[in-house]
Amino acid sequence: METMRSDLAGCPVIIGGGLAGLMTALRLAPQPVILLAKVPLAEGAASAWAQGGIAAAVGEDDRPSLHAADTLVAGDGLSDPAVASRIAAAAPGAIIELERHGVVFDRDQAGRLALGLEAAHARRRIVHVAGDGTGAAIMRALVATVQATPSITLIEGLEARRLLVDDRGVAGVLAAGPFDACLLPSRRVVLATGGLGGLYAHTTNPLGAIGQGLALAARAGAALADMEFVQFHPTALAVGLDPMPLVSEAVRGEGAVLIDETGARFMEGKGRAELEPRDVVSRAVAAHIGAGHRVFLDARRSLGADFARHFPGIAARCRASGIDPAIQPIPVRPAVHYHMGGVAVDGEGRSTVEGLWACGEAAATGLHGANRLASNSLLEAVVAAGFVADSIAGTSAVSLPAPRPVALPAAPEANALRAFVSEALGVVRARAGLEAAVARLEPLAFRGGAAADPALVALLIATAALTREESRGGHWRSDFPHPSPGWARRLVQRVDDTGTHLVCRAVALPNASQSVAIGA
Ligand SMILES: Cc1cc2nc3c(=O)[nH]c(=O)nc-3n(C[C@H](O)[C@H](O)[C@H](O)COP(=O)(O)OP(=O)(O)OC[C@H]3O[C@@H](n4cnc5c(N)ncnc54)[C@H](O)[C@@H]3O)c2cc1C
Repeated sequence: METMRSDLAGCPVIIGGGLAGLMTALRLAPQPVILLAKVPLAEGAASAWAQGGIAAAVGEDDRPSLHAADTLVAGDGLSDPAVASRIAAAAPGAIIELERHGVVFDRDQAGRLALGLEAAHARRRIVHVAGDGTGAAIMRALVATVQATPSITLIEGLEARRLLVDDRGVAGVLAAGPFDACLLPSRRVVLATGGLGGLYAHTTNPLGAIGQGLALAARAGAALADMEFVQFHPTALAVGLDPMPLVSEAVRGEGAVLIDETGARFMEGKGRAELEPRDVVSRAVAAHIGAGHRVFLDARRSLGADFARHFPGIAARCRASGIDPAIQPIPVRPAVHYHMGGVAVDGEGRSTVEGLWACGEAAATGLHGANRLASNSLLEAVVAAGFVADSIAGTSAVSLPAPRPVALPAAPEANALRAFVSEALGVVRARAGLEAAVARLEPLAFRGGAAADPALVALLIATAALTREESRGGHWRSDFPHPSPGWARRLVQRVDDTGTHLVCRAVALPNASQSVAIGA
């Protein structure tokens, strides 16, 4: 096992090479940092796959307060209003910051930022690049800037496997590459490890997104919050690809309808039909599939021959699978898309463990509550990375004794759990399935072995989902199908001091007096 170069000892270690990790490193420059990414930059990052764009109140008719209000409505009573206001207020500045790093956002003929409209946003405020190429363009620009920044020591192909902790908090990171292991002593570690869709059999996330940072944090004693809130996208392309490509909501926005193998529209007459919110459409599609049907998105009448002009990327992905959406219905099913929960952090991105920060999808800042507003996650990654960097900039390196050798845990492997996790912790949950999930996952999570970390993350979801006896946002219980005012609380969990059980408690919402009414 190797230790780090002595000139880098003690400098902040950022785990994760997506938008959150890169922005933290850039914000800290010229302070030296180590940036770890388990696969080459951008390859394993959901950030590079983002299509729609990044939300910011930059339109003439828009204000950050309106953006924050939309965020709170989507969060279904569990978002922290102070966090929503602060992040919405920082959004226009985040766009300028990305432009400074070389991102060229789409503009209209008058030179103003071109603004898209997405579901549940009251104004046009989605800033984008090359139509649906936003994430890839942002990552290209930031990767180039990071590579040209001498203060950032970038180590690709190194996977964080454990956080070292002592009685003063975080003491370093134990990481492993393809051939050997490495100890990185540091009192300042940032988790920017992204989401957890790869724990599920059906996901739009990179398959390496298995919530590893959440397991690292939990085993280090940190609190995690909102773990039960998983966002499913109702229309992922169901052609046997893993992960599943997205068929964007915009296709339904253009009039495409959901049908089954008989050609029947099963959402007609239900509220706004196919234009209901993501969680409602996901449940309807899942229920229809559960009843033995196959589900398709039919754009033949609404778009027909114009499909490829409107949605060139989706058309290309369909055609690669032998489907011509102009003349054929597109097979779809719900898939995990985003995780609202994560490492519980304060306004500086600090976890409950001294020296451990988190940002991006791995963190639970209180912005998303029970459900994420579209295009708020890229925004949160940029803005919260700034909070973390400012907080770390106020600290200084502490010299550490050489860390004691630690056994290297096995590389995490989620495959054996994916089908089970999808079944028990999917779009529709119920007591029996959740109890069975807890019973199966708990021994796996604390026994060690390749399934341990994925099982621990799934156990955190299962325990919170079992505890929350109501339906709200991304969490739907068939045995408690309504929101309950008594549940306007956050569930916070941590591994107990024996390291063998979870403790789960409901806490009052911060800034609760300003919370919107449930279901508003
Ligand atoms: C298909 C798709 C489309 C989306 N579209 C949008 C959109 O239009 N707008 C929007 O706001 N959001 C969108 N999202 C969500 C958004 O992309 C993510 O929430 C956001 O990019 C997360 O950024 P991040 O930096 O936290 O994580 P990621 O970008 O996922 O980066 C995580 C990084 O951590 C690394 N990592 C993980 N574990 C370890 C470890 N143990 N050791 C070392 N490295 C590790 C990974 O390799 C990766 O580099 C979309 C998501 C998907 C999947």
